[in-house]
Amino acid sequence: MPSSFPSHVYVHVPFCARRCTYCDFSIAVRRVVPVDEYVAALKRELEIRFPETADAPVETLYFGGGTPSRLGGEGVASLIAMLRQRLRLVDDAEVTLETNPEDVNADAIARWRDAGVNRLSLGGQSFDERVLEWMHRSHDAAAIGRAVDVARAGGIENISLDLIFALPEGVERSWTTDVARALELEASHLSLYGLTIEPHTPMGRWKARGELLETTDERYESEFLYAHDALTAAGFDHYEVSNFGRPGFHSRHNSAYWSGSPYAGLGPSAHEFDGAVRRWNVSAYADWLRHLHDSVDPVAESESLTDGNRLAEDVYLGLRTRRGITVAGPEIARVEAWLEAGWATRTSADRLQLTPLGWLRLDALAADLTLVRSRY
Ligand code: SF4
Repeated sequence: MPSSFPSHVYVHVPFCARRCTYCDFSIAVRRVVPVDEYVAALKRELEIRFPETADAPVETLYFGGGTPSRLGGEGVASLIAMLRQRLRLVDDAEVTLETNPEDVNADAIARWRDAGVNRLSLGGQSFDERVLEWMHRSHDAAAIGRAVDVARAGGIENISLDLIFALPEGVERSWTTDVARALELEASHLSLYGLTIEPHTPMGRWKARGELLETTDERYESEFLYAHDALTAAGFDHYEVSNFGRPGFHSRHNSAYWSGSPYAGLGPSAHEFDGAVRRWNVSAYADWLRHLHDSVDPVAESESLTDGNRLAEDVYLGLRTRRGITVAGPEIARVEAWLEAGWATRTSADRLQLTPLGWLRLDALAADLTLVRSRY
């Protein structure tokens, strides 16, 4: 357990209205969300796992899921009120709520804003009705724009929008149209994720039955590079492989992960890191609840970082972000080929960052540099 409470906190809220066809997250599908039961269990988790948090300063608080907005206006307010009894949100804390468009209304926005939420991460995924239906999303395309308007009118201006690209071959989706629609909404931040088809999902089963063909590398690359060009031309910083922010609107919470800072994780399946050890909670909501009901620590497993883990992680975290990485010794010769191929650029004599072409090869380049670094 960390000696001092981390200044970054992730809270996993597992509830969803239904399961999207691509999703393998730990969720609990509920028509009626058991807000009081969840908030009471989370309070118990804080008491059991972090008895010494009194007034711990928190710089970023992130409610992820699942669909945290399913807690509603009142539910989010009561969750934050409970957390505030144990933690102190600093004056300029970033408080992000993952939100589905259909949960946004003027009342909810007012309650969230008054409780301290100042950033929404809005799950849009696409503006194409057929694609939304195919993904089994719980909203239509018009709801995305409406949610942005209502949030802004209610005083939450910092809005991040999620989109999924690289859809399977048979799915006729215009990526250029979706990027243009996202730009029209003037969000302050965009997160773009290439679709991965996990085996234990409806899409995974369609794939196993041969009803769905994963996208080609060419399509993945061309959509990724198109988004990079269109969004940077519109003034966004492509500051991490999957993330674009207008200046001053980079995600502070996620940036803490990418810099290796400690963070606490609460709720079912939440992960945390104290600077040396990673821990993660039991995954299923019912399991997590049972542990806390019995006053048992819900941590399922932990892993101490070895020197090798740390080295690999430093390389990977540096390369995935615009921060880049310092190279020395034999690494300098190794990255020459990257520079020549246009996969990286030098930001100073001994420092480099990956280009969008390099980010398309992130895993391979990170593994390559890790190997060189581990040998000297
Ligand atoms: S809303 Fe998000 S967490 Fe819930 S099922 Fe869909 S993708 Fe998964």
